[in-house]
Amino acid sequence: MSVLSKKRFHDEAAAFAYVESIIWPEGPFCPFCGSVEKIYPLTGVRTKPSKKHPEGVERHGLKKCGECRKQFTVRKGTVFEESHLPLHIWLQAIHLLCSSKKGISSHQLARTLDITGKSAWFLSHRIREAMRPKSMAPFGSDRGAVEADETFFGTDENVPTKETKYRRGARNMNKVLSLVDRETGQVRSFVVKDLKINTIEPILMENIEREALLLTDEALHYRATGREYFRMHRSVNHSEEEWVHKFHPAWHTNTIEGYFSIFKRGMRGVYQHCSTKHLHRYVAEFDFRYSNRIKNGVDDEERAERTIAQVIGKRLTYRRPDETANA
Ligand SMILES: [Zn+2]
Repeated sequence: MSVLSKKRFHDEAAAFAYVESIIWPEGPFCPFCGSVEKIYPLTGVRTKPSKKHPEGVERHGLKKCGECRKQFTVRKGTVFEESHLPLHIWLQAIHLLCSSKKGISSHQLARTLDITGKSAWFLSHRIREAMRPKSMAPFGSDRGAVEADETFFGTDENVPTKETKYRRGARNMNKVLSLVDRETGQVRSFVVKDLKINTIEPILMENIEREALLLTDEALHYRATGREYFRMHRSVNHSEEEWVHKFHPAWHTNTIEGYFSIFKRGMRGVYQHCSTKHLHRYVAEFDFRYSNRIKNGVDDEERAERTIAQVIGKRLTYRRPDETANA
């Protein structure tokens, strides 16, 4: 049976039941007063009649809190709240974004789901927001190895064009710093404005345990921090074609290079026109899929479920580019 033929992808009541089972594993709670008791379902409620739906539309998953008397559904307070798209369409979009290794463009999403380009753009950015990790526990506990490296691509829109005209190279490009915890296989990436020690050091210190073994290339911006802050810092000399240390095969940054290659293929092939402003969300998407990959024991379905589990409290406040009135 095709994954997409499962009921929750085309039946709204099933979609609600599925999302509720993930967000409310111990039963519903009221998003207004936090009550878990006296919450009862309201069945058979319909929306007001409209031209398109003269008899109204059934309001699935509607609940009422006996404590504060307010009504809500599981969408309340989540990324699902701001869109009128049916929940089963959301589930299709989440599945597509979670199962495509290099991502899926909003144009493609619009065609596949038969929704407008604007809706697809809106939807995919909210899903990316849900993919952003809630826990930021430091990497490299139990004296584990953590690889750190940076990659460049596209044009950093924050660099004045006056400068890009005369100066080429990395300075004008978007810069992403990534860390991989080799033990857990998790990756965490940051869009950075430059590669100065003042920029890099706080990220390393906040996200890597002191007891860790830090592995980088020979770049200067890792040296002082590596020496002063971490138990051990080892580097390979990429400029001299050294990729793995001669005597210590575990000293390398090949794991992170592998991650960058997936990331760059996706950014070039799928998301060609990504602005610097939204880059951190694309980065979160690639990080999420990589950290929750098959090799780490997470299949497509589980990955989608983990995304849904993180939708709470992730409402975005920014608007679509054409919705400047309320921005
Ligand atoms: Zn309540």
